[in-house]
Amino acid sequence: MFGKFLLTVTVIAIIWFGYKYLGRMAELRQRKPGGPRPETPAQDAGAAEIMVECKSCGTWQPARSAKACGRNDCPY
Ligand SMILES: [Zn+2]
Repeated sequence: MFGKFLLTVTVIAIIWFGYKYLGRMAELRQRKPGGPRPETPAQDAGAAEIMVECKSCGTWQPARSAKACGRNDCPY
């Protein structure tokens, strides 16, 4: 009886964490620029800005308004 209850709780927990994990993965895929498929014009047009990463300081900036961070080897 108790074992059956435990099994049910375990199954629910696995499903719950599975959904959470999938949701996080989808969120990460949306946020990452240049993911597996960068050419998806259907994604809310205009809302997404192309971000560029500074190789020197590691900060992300909008490509259109990228500014130098002050470091000597900053590419912007
Ligand atoms: Zn920089």
